[in-house]
This record gives sequence, C-alpha cells and structure tokens, in this order.
Amino acid sequence: MKLLSVIVPCYNEEENIRDFYDELLKNSSFFTEKEIEIEMIYIDDGSKDRTVEEIRKLRAQDERVHMLSFSRNFGKEAAIYAGLQKAKGDMAVLMDADLQDPPSLLPEMYGYIEQGYDSVATRRVTRKGEPPIRSFFARMFYRIMNRISKTEVVDGARDYRLMTRQVVDAILAMTEYNRFTKGIFGWVGFETKWLEYENIERKKGETKWSFWKLFAYSLEGITAFSTVPLTVAALVGALFCILAFILIIVIIVKTLIFGDPTSGWPSLVCIIMLVSGVQLFCLGIVGQYLSKTYMEVKKRPIYLVKEDF
Ligand code: UDP
Ligand code: MG
Repeated sequence: MKLLSVIVPCYNEEENIRDFYDELLKNSSFFTEKEIEIEMIYIDDGSKDRTVEEIRKLRAQDERVHMLSFSRNFGKEAAIYAGLQKAKGDMAVLMDADLQDPPSLLPEMYGYIEQGYDSVATRRVTRKGEPPIRSFFARMFYRIMNRISKTEVVDGARDYRLMTRQVVDAILAMTEYNRFTKGIFGWVGFETKWLEYENIERKKGETKWSFWKLFAYSLEGITAFSTVPLTVAALVGALFCILAFILIIVIIVKTLIFGDPTSGWPSLVCIIMLVSGVQLFCLGIVGQYLSKTYMEVKKRPIYLVKEDF
C-alpha cells in the first residue's frame, strides 16, 4: 500500500471544508483501485471562523483526517510548509480548500507520476473572473520576474501540485523564512509535467488576496529569487556619475568662454531633485534586501502550532 498526503491550507474556509472533503472522496475510488491510501492534512492558518470545528467534525467520523492549527495567521506559504512537514505519504498533493483545484484532475496527475515524472503541476490558461487590471499586473510581474531571475516562475501556475517524496524532501530542505513557493518549486527542479485547465471560480467565501497584498507578494518574489535590482541600482549610480562628469566639463568650458552669468538656479533644483530621488529609490532597493536578510537571520520559526492531530 502506498500513501498519498492531501495537504489543504485553510484560512476562514468554514463553508468549504465539508464540500471539499465530499468532493475529494467522490474522486478517490481511482486511488483505492490503485491500492493507494489517502490521508488528509488540513492546515488551519489561524482562522477566525468555525473552520477548526468543521475539521474536528470530519475527524470524528474519519480517522484519515488530520489537522494542524496555527497560533495565528502565518500565510499560505507557511501552511504549505507545515503540511509538507506533517505529510507521511510517498506522494503529496497541495490543494486549495475552495475547490478551485478540481480533485477530478488527480487520476490524470497520478498517471504522469506513474510514467516517471517527479511532480505534476497545474496552470490555468485563462484568468476568467478576475479584474482586468489585476490580470495586467500579474502578466507584467511574470514577464519581469522571468527576465531577471534564473528561477523559472510559470505564468498562471497554481499551487495545485502532486509530488513524489523526493520532491517533498527537497522543498523541506529549503528552510528560508521568506517563502515564495512558486519560486521554490522552480528552484528545486526535477522533472515536472504541466497540466492546463480553465480557471474555476471559488465556490463559497471570498479570496484572501487584495490587490495590495498581491503587489507586496510580487515584490517578495523578486527579492527572494533575484538580485538584479541591486545591480540595476549600481548601474544607475554609475550612469549618473558619468553624466555629472560630462556636465562638469561642459560647465567649466562654458564659463571660460561665456563668463559666469548666475542663471543656473532652476536647472540646479531640477538636478538636485532628480539625483536625490534616484538615490532614495536605490537606497529603497538595498533596504528591501536588507530587511529580508534581517528577517532571515533572526531564524524565527515559520509557524507556531496550537493543535495537532
Ligand atoms: N490561505 C491560507 N492562508 C492565508 C490565505 C489563504 O491558508 O493567509 C488558503 C485559503 O484558505 C485557500 C488557499 O490558501 O485554501 C488559496 O486562497 P484563496 O482562494 O484566497 O486564493 P486565490 O485562489 O484567490 O488565489
Ligand atoms: Mg482560491
């Protein structure tokens, strides 16, 4: 008998817990045929609603249900890490509680693992049901990210992913505090099969991602998997030095030929504003990396457990 761990991060998903469980079991006959057992690991990410109670109810009727609840909201990335740590399976799959990751895809995904792939990932090909402005920024993010980082981050990739134990252990070996999972998946490598499907809108409840949360998350992704912004800052600095040098020569020559009528005030103010702006901007970039380093060296735990069964 093999064991498959289904990892479900949940944050305020009281309406979805039961539906998800039913839907998963509806699609599990395939695994029974293949002699694969299933364990369900719900990670309660500090929910403020009745999510934990719902999970306890499931546990009362099904021993295969497990839960780890956090002392507060640590974010989905932490929940994924905790789930992978708790998973005992020979394979693990990450799924959202909101049924946006259809369990009906699991047999096909497993087929590819049987064929020898190490992990099977999914990406949505449409962004149906999403505000256009958000889609625009998302596309731009992936374009920039892939240009400045060696780690491949796939546009539209979801966290819905079936992995072998080997891949799970590789991800667990990455113990960094700033966990940008989409980058981590790319970084560990292994043979990955991509499946595509149309975006499915969430069944109940609402998304936990606001525009600004996503924006901050994208910056996190960039600092976590690329140091190109630092190089850009240095290059801009060098460029301004060269410009200043040329300008000095021009002014000296001009003064020697035409004398020194003091009429440079407005241009001086413009130059000071521009240069100080560029300086602050570059300092900000350095600060981003510094703050990430600061959080990293503190070695704080990625999550804290309140309840575990
Ligand atoms: N989630 C979580 N912690 C958070 C935010 C979200 O565990 O801080 C879970 C959430 O319960 C869901 C999954 O991550 O199962 C995806 O969240 P959501 O559906 O809000 O994201 P979207 O699908 O809109 O990208
Ligand atoms: Mg969702």
